Amino acid sequence: AKYDHGNGYCFFSEEMNKNATRQLELEEQLRHALIDQQFEVYFQPQFDWSRQKLTGVEALVRWNRAQGEVVPPEMFIPVVESTGQIVALGEWVLRQACLQIQQLQCQLNVPLQLSVNLSGRQFDDLSLIYKVKKILQETNFPPEQLELEITETILMENADSARKTLGQLSQQGIRLAIDDFGTGYSSLNYLNTFPVDRLKIDKSFLVNVMHDDNHAAIVATIISMADTLGLSVIAEGVETMEQVSFLSDLGCQAMQGFIFSEPLPREELEEFVQKGWP
Ligand code: C2E
Ligand code: CA
Ligand code: CA
Ligand code: CA
Repeated sequence: AKYDHGNGYCFFSEEMNKNATRQLELEEQLRHALIDQQFEVYFQPQFDWSRQKLTGVEALVRWNRAQGEVVPPEMFIPVVESTGQIVALGEWVLRQACLQIQQLQCQLNVPLQLSVNLSGRQFDDLSLIYKVKKILQETNFPPEQLELEITETILMENADSARKTLGQLSQQGIRLAIDDFGTGYSSLNYLNTFPVDRLKIDKSFLVNVMHDDNHAAIVATIISMADTLGLSVIAEGVETMEQVSFLSDLGCQAMQGFIFSEPLPREELEEFVQKGWP
């Protein structure tokens, strides 16, 4: 369509210029945000339905850009991934999350599992194993209570190095989960050749599970195959009681989603742990 008008091309190029400038500004802001500690770790509860119990939390990063303005990760994770800043940010998130959850479980005497997201770039970082070990030592966080989440795509794109890295992490007692499971078209049998402990069913399947027979069948298949292969399973994006019953009937008791709680800042998580879920 840009060839239809004489001025079409110029308009397009100006737009591109604006986008590139905006991108550069964002990168620059993110560089400062890392230095000025504008990031904050939120925690979303993970719930065991059959035991009616909070079992753990997933750490999710937020950017407090200006007074009261919280930027969601979709807006900046892709940028810090492209610049490589995710390596430093990811390390910071892991340290903060271990520190805060360790503090919380000592203070309240409640054991909590902690899940932290790992990006592909962190996988390429040769010092990852060393950094994780160091953070666990510094924060006194028990390795068996830490779970690292890796997406199916990252795993498949870096199969050889991933196998090695994951092996070393799992030797430290750390658990490994495949995030956004079901979106990457890889076979569960193949994925099971990695030292994986848990599958996290992608929330896109949950959205339609009550209206879409295909999605319902996919969720049911993932749950039963995980069981066959001896893997744990957790569903994310659980928003309604219908979804809770559907999952629970299929034997998936571990759940995470807005029906239990949104991701919470540390102080609100503390309240949630003390009060419990209604
Ligand atoms: P994710 O790892 O799949 O995280 C789950 C996302 O689903 C979170 O979005 C969470 O707030 C949202 N969510 C939770 N319950 C529900 C629900 O019931 N319904 C719906 N519709 N959504 C729900 P969030 O916090 O915006 O994070 C988005 C993505 O950003 C994450 O997806 C993850 O890929 C990335 N991310 C966040 N923090 C980090 C981090 O520290 N490191 C890395 N590498 N990536 C991160
Ligand atoms: Ca995740
Ligand atoms: Ca996910
Ligand atoms: Ca995702």
